[in-house]
Amino acid sequence: MTIEKQPSCDDPVEPALLPVIEARRRMASAISPINDAESVHLSDSLARVLAKDIHSPRAVPPQSNSAMDGYAISRESIPASGETTLQLIGTAWAGRPCEQIVKPGQAIRIFTGAIMPEGADTVVIQEHAMQSDDTVRIDAEVQPGKNVRPAGEDVQKDECVLCSGTTLGAAEIGVLASLGINTVDVVRKIRVAFFSTGDELRTLDEHAGTELPLGMLFDSNRHTIKALLASPAIETIDLGVVPDDVDATREALRSASMQADLVVTSGGISAGDADFVAQVFQEQGQVSFWKLAMRPGRPLAFGLVNDAVFFGLPGNPVAVVVTYLQFVKPAIKRLQGAIRVEPVTLPAISTSAMRKTPGRMEFQRGILGRSDDGELSVASTGKQGAGRLTSIAQADCLIVLEPEQGTVEPGDRVKIQPFFGLLA
Ligand code: AMP
Ligand code: MG
Repeated sequence: MTIEKQPSCDDPVEPALLPVIEARRRMASAISPINDAESVHLSDSLARVLAKDIHSPRAVPPQSNSAMDGYAISRESIPASGETTLQLIGTAWAGRPCEQIVKPGQAIRIFTGAIMPEGADTVVIQEHAMQSDDTVRIDAEVQPGKNVRPAGEDVQKDECVLCSGTTLGAAEIGVLASLGINTVDVVRKIRVAFFSTGDELRTLDEHAGTELPLGMLFDSNRHTIKALLASPAIETIDLGVVPDDVDATREALRSASMQADLVVTSGGISAGDADFVAQVFQEQGQVSFWKLAMRPGRPLAFGLVNDAVFFGLPGNPVAVVVTYLQFVKPAIKRLQGAIRVEPVTLPAISTSAMRKTPGRMEFQRGILGRSDDGELSVASTGKQGAGRLTSIAQADCLIVLEPEQGTVEPGDRVKIQPFFGLLA
C-alpha cells in the first residue's frame, strides 16, 4: 500500500496556507485598542502611548527671540547702499530682556535666546557688524527679518502637537517638557502572559550549571520572549514551563487568558501527538488562523481565548523571534492604539545568494552593510535552520523575501527589517 502524503512544512507550496498579508489583515480587524487610560508623570512616560491629543497650552517659543549673537535693529535702519552707523542703547540677554524700545538709527546688543526688544525685527550677526564703544556699523547687505525666531515658530498655542496614539520617545518627552506639561494621559500597561511548553524543557532557575539528562534542553524561549517584551509599557506575567499534558495546558491557557490582555506561548502547535496547545486552543478559543505561508513560522496560532488575544508561537527558537516581531509586537501596538504598528521595511542590495522556491514569505537573518556607491546592502548570516538561534544573535536585520520571489542572486534587491533597538 502506498503512503498517502499529507500537507507538511516540507512542501514548497501548500494551497491551504494563509498568506502573511492576509494574516496581518485578520489581526488588524480582530484586535481593538484598549481604551483604559492612566495619568503618569512625564519621567515615567517613556514608551507609553498617548491616550489623548495634546493641545499646547502656550506658544513655543512664547516670544520672538534672537537666533544669534549680534545686534537687534529695525529693518528701517538698513541702508539702501553703503554703510550706516547706529547708536547702541542697551543689551538684551537670554533670560534678561531689555526694556528699551529700538528706534530707527538705534541698535541693542543681543545674545542668542534673548527676547527681541520692542521696535526690533532683525538681528545683524556680530560677525557682520563693527562695534566701537556705543555705536555699531552695519551695511546694506543686512537682510530684513533675519536671525529672529518668531513666537510660535515651533508650536502655536492650542495647536494639536502630539496626537493620541503617539508612542512617547525622547523627542516627544522633550516636546511635552517644552510645553510645561509634566503629567500625561497614557494607555494603561498591556498585560502579557507567556509560557513555554514541552516535556523536554528544563528551567534555568532550577538547572543552570548542571548537566541535563539525555534529550533535555534549557527553556530558552521564555527568556527570549521576556526580553522581547521588556518595555515600560508592558507588564509581563511569566507562567513558566508547562509539560506536554492536555490538562496542564488547558489550565495554563485558562489562567493566562484570565490575567492578561495578550497570551504568548511557544511550542506545541504543530500536528504532533504531543502538541496540546493546538488542541486546547481549538477547544477553548476562537481560532482566526493557524498555518501561515511563511518560513520560519508555518504553524502559528492566532485568535482569542476568553477576552485575551492569543499567539501560539512555534517552539523553534528562531521562529519565536521572527513571529514575535512580525505579529506579536504589532498586536501589542494595536492593543495600545499606537499609530505606527507594522515593522519598518527598507530596500537593500543583497551581497549573498539565497536559495528559495516561490510560495512562502521567508524571513532570513541578515547583516547590514554598505555597497561601494553608498547604498544599504545586506549579507545572509549563512545557514538558516530554524533552531539556529545564534543566527539571530549574529544578525542585525531580517531579510524579507516575498512569496513570489525565487532564488536571490548577489546584486538583487531585497527588503530588510532592521533590528535597531528591537532586540535590546
Ligand atoms: P514544538 O513546536 O513544540 O514541536 O518544538 C519545536 C522545537 O523547538 C523542538 O526541537 C523543541 O525542543 C524546541 N523548543 C520548543 N520549546 C522550546 C523552548 N522553550 N526553548 C528552546 N527550545 C524549544
Ligand atoms: Mg513541543
